[in-house]
Amino acid sequence: MTTRLYNFNPGPAALPLEVLEQAKETTVQYGGRGISIMEMSHRSKPVEQLSAETEQLLLELAGLSRNEYRALFMGGGASTQFAMLPLNFLAGGQIADYILSGSFSEKALHEAQYIGQTRIAASSQAEKWRRTPDVNSLRIQADAAYVHMTTNNTIEGSRFNIFPETGGVPLIADMTSDLLSRNIDYSRFSMIYAGAQKNLGPAGITVVIIRRDMLERCSKQIPLIWRYATYASNDSLYNTPPVHALYLTNLVLQWTKRQGGVQRLETVNRDKAALIYEAIDRSGGFYEGIIARGDRSDMNITWRLASKELELLFVQESEQHGFEGLAGHRSVGGIRASAYNAVPRAACEALADFMNDFMRRKG
Ligand SMILES: *Cc1c(COP(=O)(O)O)cnc(C)c1O
Repeated sequence: MTTRLYNFNPGPAALPLEVLEQAKETTVQYGGRGISIMEMSHRSKPVEQLSAETEQLLLELAGLSRNEYRALFMGGGASTQFAMLPLNFLAGGQIADYILSGSFSEKALHEAQYIGQTRIAASSQAEKWRRTPDVNSLRIQADAAYVHMTTNNTIEGSRFNIFPETGGVPLIADMTSDLLSRNIDYSRFSMIYAGAQKNLGPAGITVVIIRRDMLERCSKQIPLIWRYATYASNDSLYNTPPVHALYLTNLVLQWTKRQGGVQRLETVNRDKAALIYEAIDRSGGFYEGIIARGDRSDMNITWRLASKELELLFVQESEQHGFEGLAGHRSVGGIRASAYNAVPRAACEALADFMNDFMRRKG
């Protein structure tokens, strides 16, 4: 077998090796049933059980009760949620408030603008997304449909450490790149969505965690297939869900629980990111962090070198040393290391060592 790379891909991203091995074992035979889960009806008992169990596990890991919340599974990715959210909750005459902190939050806003009235409640665009906007002084109108935010900015490498007080207005978040990576009070949110391919599983499945009272507010002017209520009342089996991706997500969630859940992973993730941030901060300016210190993400760590040529060389040499996925997003440039839950501490240690070595040679 060839050795595994140090995978810092931003998404689709690293999966736990344990999960990949488990999935390999069950690819031909699932539960001793003579066929794989990919070949089973989504109306069969094993798939129904898988869906129910995965919902329970996800809510449990987020510290939420199924009496109050539902977890739904669907296709389309987080980008589909950018449109589905306003379709469901942005009724005529209402305004939705958007907090802008990076390019994914802008994309979410743009989709909502096709559907209804929106307002920018706060933005850090003028600072080139180098920090997240201050959410302490938001002025939310009491009758706003919802407030939308992106809790971790995957492309830029920033995150929110505090979340706005929105009174009675539902707070809704895209948590694609930080769900279950840190111990936040998930019950502050009326709805959370995430494409699975960063912390939760493979691409092809999207999770939506939604408070039950929101399900009653879904628009009845839109097709059934777009309504969150349809997914909830059919336990995510209204139509064929991405069954194999759901299965892999279940395995990742079980792995997450075995690691000690979000409480423990937050500590591990902080420690992993600190290894890389230390290499940046102790480089005497050879590496320069892109994000203001207080707003740095533990999931996506971004920095620059003195020139584009040096950055290119850094990425090329990193690849020769077994690192994958370190080139920054094309819109930002520089370097980005994505150290999601499944990225082992050893990979971050190796990266910090490589950074120090590269600096010794080129600095
Ligand atoms: C990756 C990502 C997206 C896009 O997800 P898709 O599943 O590709 O649509 C949206 N928001 C955030 C925060 C992301 O990290």
